[in-house]
Amino acid sequence: MSSVRRLGPSSENTRSAILDMIRSSGTVSRIELAEMSGLTATSITRIVKSLIEDNLVVETGFGDPTGGKRRSILELNPQARFAVGLALDDARLTYVVANLGGNVVGQLVSAGLGQKTPSIEIVRIAEELKQLFTQLDIPVSHVVGVGLAGAGLDLGAGAERLSVTADEWDSFAIQEALESRIGLPVVRDNDAACAALGQFWVGRIPATQDFATLYMSNGFGLGLMVGGGVSRGASSNVGEIGHMVVDINGPDCWCGSRGCLEAVAAPRAIVAKAMRNRGLSTELDLHGGDNKLRHDYNAIARAAASGEPRATALIEQSAQFVAAAILSVVNVLDLDRVYLAGPGFADAGAIYVRLIRDLVSRLARTRSVHGVAVELSDPGLDPAALGAATLALQHTLIPHKRFERQR
Ligand SMILES: [Zn+2]
Repeated sequence: MSSVRRLGPSSENTRSAILDMIRSSGTVSRIELAEMSGLTATSITRIVKSLIEDNLVVETGFGDPTGGKRRSILELNPQARFAVGLALDDARLTYVVANLGGNVVGQLVSAGLGQKTPSIEIVRIAEELKQLFTQLDIPVSHVVGVGLAGAGLDLGAGAERLSVTADEWDSFAIQEALESRIGLPVVRDNDAACAALGQFWVGRIPATQDFATLYMSNGFGLGLMVGGGVSRGASSNVGEIGHMVVDINGPDCWCGSRGCLEAVAAPRAIVAKAMRNRGLSTELDLHGGDNKLRHDYNAIARAAASGEPRATALIEQSAQFVAAAILSVVNVLDLDRVYLAGPGFADAGAIYVRLIRDLVSRLARTRSVHGVAVELSDPGLDPAALGAATLALQHTLIPHKRFERQR
C-alpha cells in the first residue's frame, strides 16, 4: 500500500489503485478503502463517485455494523468492461474473452498462422475479433484491449518469432499493426509468461506462492510467478529454458550454443529422430519438413500416448531432458509447484508429467523439506490466451503496477 500513499489523490494512478483494491477485496466500504489506501475520506468519496459514474463499480447494499451509521458496500461491476487474450500459434489461434473480474465469458479457436503473410493474417484476426464481439453481444466501447501471447521475443528486431514457416513474421511489429487495424490498445508478452499469469487466475493460487509454468509449442518457455507477479528480467525475456544446456556434448543449437534443451527435446528434434526410423515415419505418415512440423510431432505424440513403443521411446527421451531442466529450475528457485502448458503437451503430456515427477521427487535438493507438485494445466482452457486477456485487463485496471518493462 505504500505506493498508494505516495500518489497524489487526484492522479489517474490513484483511481486505478482504488479500483484494484475494490476488485481484490470482493466487497468493501469507503471507510475500509480510506484505511487501506491512506487517502482521506473526501478523496475516497470523490474517486468512488467517478468509478460509479463510469459504471466500473456498483453499490450492492449495506453493511451490518454493530452500531452507528450504516455504510454502503462497494463491489466491482465485472460486466462493465472486457478484454481479449489471443494465443498465437502455428497450429491454431485461441481467443479468450474475459470480463473485468477475470472470468472467461467467451472463447474462439481458429486456424493457426500457418504460411500466410502477416498482412493477410492481421485482417483475419480483426475480422474474427469483430465476429467474437458480435456473438457475445459486447459493444467494442466496452473492450479495454487485446493481449497477445506469442513465442519468445526476437532479441535483435524486437519482433516475435511467431511462425516457423513464414519468414515475414520475423521482423513484423504485430502489436502496432493490430492496434491501428482494430483501434484498441494491444499489449503482448511471451506465451510462457502469459501462461503463468493465466494459471495464476485459473488455479486460484495464493499470491505468496511462487511457481513456474513450462510452456511447450515449437520450443520451450518458462513463465515464473514470483510474489504474485510475473518475473520479467532486463528485457522481458525471463525463462528461455529452451536454451538451458542439458548436454554439453550435444548437437549445435541455432542460438550458437550446443546441447540446448530445444536442440535435443523440442518437436523438431523429436521429428528428426523419428525420420531416421523408416518404418515409423512411414507408419505415422511423417513428412519431415518445417511446414509439417506440428502435424508430424502430433502424430508421434499420439502414437506414444497410445503405447506405440518406438514413439514412446522418442517422447520419453525428450521428457528425460525436460525433467533434467526442470529439476535444475526447481533447485535454483526452490519451487514447490510446476505446471505444464501449451500445445506441445496436448497429446503426450502425461508422459512428461510422469518422468518429471519421478526425477524431481527422487532428486530435488529440498525433497526432505517439501514436495514439488507437477501438474498438466487444464487442456480445455488455453492458459496463455487467458493470461494474455489478464495482461490487457491489468494494463487498464492497474497501470500503476508496471507489468512490462520499457525496452
Ligand atoms: Zn540454444
